Amino acid sequence: MIKKIRLSADIFRDNDREAGKNRRLFKKAGVFVVNLMGAPGCGKTTLIENLAKNYKGKIRLAVIEGDIATGKDAQRIAKAGVPVSLLNTDQVGNACHLSSKMIRKAYEKIRNTKPEIIIIENIGNLICPADFDLGENLRVSMVSITEGDDKVSKYPPMFVNAEAVILSKIDIIKHFKYNLKFVRKEIKRLNPNAEIFEISLKNKHSLKFFSDFLINKRTTTNTIYRLT
Ligand code: MG
Repeated sequence: MIKKIRLSADIFRDNDREAGKNRRLFKKAGVFVVNLMGAPGCGKTTLIENLAKNYKGKIRLAVIEGDIATGKDAQRIAKAGVPVSLLNTDQVGNACHLSSKMIRKAYEKIRNTKPEIIIIENIGNLICPADFDLGENLRVSMVSITEGDDKVSKYPPMFVNAEAVILSKIDIIKHFKYNLKFVRKEIKRLNPNAEIFEISLKNKHSLKFFSDFLINKRTTTNTIYRLT
């Protein structure tokens, strides 16, 4: 039992150390890194495809794609014209999250494209990714209306450390018994500073709010870099 506890602590300690290395590497390269987390099917890949459209010709975007067993999402991102580095975790025991070491390996494959923003699409999972710092600048947690209005309350670690929370598929809310006011309140209870984005693919303005938010965050963060 004691061994088990030590092993677990070591995993987090090692990962945190590697996350620090990533952070220094990203800072030096002037790249703003977003860790996008959420359950399978909440719309992470679709969101990235839409961001790619918004940023085309304006911001150099790259993606690190976490996928247990396929390259399906990576293919969609490549089709959108974005450099993408694929991490299949079935090679490391079907890991349900990405780690800092994996991120560094994946970054090496896309660093020559000189990305200004990297989006990490984490493994579809509402639990494990929350525990692993990847050296990112910004954490975004995404949850869709179709998952039900209890998910924020049931999986707090995913939301307490996220700078932004996206509620997706908001256009189909009328088909579900979903208490939006309650969910907004739950997010603020867990994380009073979280920015909340309610988005729908059918409403391009809602996507633009989020895409502008990332650009603004990048600008602010880079200003801080220059001062240190
Ligand atoms: Mg996906």
